[in-house]
Amino acid sequence: MSVHAPAHTELVFQLASLSHSRAGQQARGCTNPIRLTGSSTTIHAGTGEVVRTYSSDDEPDGHTYVRCGNRRAAVCPSCSREYKGDAWHLLSCGLAGGKTIPETVAQHPATFATFTAPSFGAVHRHTRPTNGRTSPCRARRDKPRCPHGRPLSCVRRHDADDPQVGQPLCFECYDYTAHAAWQWWAPQLWRYLTMALRRRLARAAGVSMKAFTKAAKVSYTKVTEFQARGVVHFHVVIRLDGPDGPATAPGLGLTVTDLEEAVRHAATHAHKDVPIPGGQTLRLRWGRQLDLRTITPDAGRDNHDGPAHPHQVAAYLAKYLTKSTEDFGLPVAGKLYSARHAAKHGATPHAVRLIKAAQQLVPIHDDYQRLKDRYATLGYRGHPITKSRAYSVTFGALRSARRQWRQRRAQLATDADVRDVLDLDQADDDTTATTVVIGEWRYAGRSYLDTATAANATRSANLARIRRADEASTT
Ligand SMILES: [Zn+2]
Ligand SMILES: [Zn+2]
Ligand SMILES: [Zn+2]
Repeated sequence: MSVHAPAHTELVFQLASLSHSRAGQQARGCTNPIRLTGSSTTIHAGTGEVVRTYSSDDEPDGHTYVRCGNRRAAVCPSCSREYKGDAWHLLSCGLAGGKTIPETVAQHPATFATFTAPSFGAVHRHTRPTNGRTSPCRARRDKPRCPHGRPLSCVRRHDADDPQVGQPLCFECYDYTAHAAWQWWAPQLWRYLTMALRRRLARAAGVSMKAFTKAAKVSYTKVTEFQARGVVHFHVVIRLDGPDGPATAPGLGLTVTDLEEAVRHAATHAHKDVPIPGGQTLRLRWGRQLDLRTITPDAGRDNHDGPAHPHQVAAYLAKYLTKSTEDFGLPVAGKLYSARHAAKHGATPHAVRLIKAAQQLVPIHDDYQRLKDRYATLGYRGHPITKSRAYSVTFGALRSARRQWRQRRAQLATDADVRDVLDLDQADDDTTATTVVIGEWRYAGRSYLDTATAANATRSANLARIRRADEASTT
């Protein structure tokens, strides 16, 4: 036995490496690909001629590897990077024109706004370095202390990834109740803002709401990002379109200055009164910090402030889309049942206290009932990206392209990605119209095979190929 062992080990590694190199080629660095078995045949619809056949039987280990396609960088860096690329591509079309969006859309008044929550208490912070040096967190000459005796100043220069960033200077002073309530109601507060915005624009144009609706439409794409303090903020493209959407110019002669004034007005005035424990009512508002950047194709692509180029805005939005809440030690998937459960999971003390405050809101009013299903997102119930229907067709197109990508997977080159489908979909590629794909695919599992399994699978796939070749030669 000891004589055969090295040769055997060698063979196992050779077989496994065949499987692994092909799997790696197909899944291109995806950390958790999907394994499929099955086959498909592409037939020319007119002539019935077989254009292409493909079967997982032809792969070294008998599996076809498909990328997981996950949006979140913490789950799959490779697919997340690809998703970011797709999102950028499509958001750019929505902003600058391209694909199905006319280029005149870039001339519509548009602004890139960042809406934040108000302060719920001082937290440690990172400042973007100027002249290569991060500023001190909270330098105060008088070195004040809070009623609990904790310092309200901090002279450390926190890096962006310092775990202290976003943590309160005093957790007893921090208003966790207001934070939890604001987070839960943020989607409502957003809706109020959009209503106030339309009213203000109608007034600026000197027309009734009805006349305004007939002449223009406010469209937006909103991406949610969690700040280090665990509260969402919204990055939003707000644009004036014609009544039928991006293909038509807005009427009423409103300029980007009118639009930005109206946004500021709406952000200052939108509010909502909500119940909190102790029979009290809390008035929720947007934070005073409102960043607005005019979107124009004339802007430099690398501007850090001032006017922003559409492609740059698309890049910001795409980047925020791949972030999520895992920085707070919260599970990427699955439910959290309580603050205690979060603590057990390894959530930061700040996140645990926030979930506890959310838990205390649940019993006080029916409106908070479903909050208990949202502890894993720190009480936020919105989507990572939302858009008004008129914004553009592109994000829907991305989703349907992804769906079609899955359906047409076998019709494409084995290393295809979703952008190939986009081109298949929207370019005048007549092969898709004239061919029919007949295929059947079964789910075989997740992830790459370990060495022993890969070697076994490769060996069986080889034997099966030999058997099929034998059968073919005898018939
Ligand atoms: Zn992946
Ligand atoms: Zn600090
Ligand atoms: Zn305190």
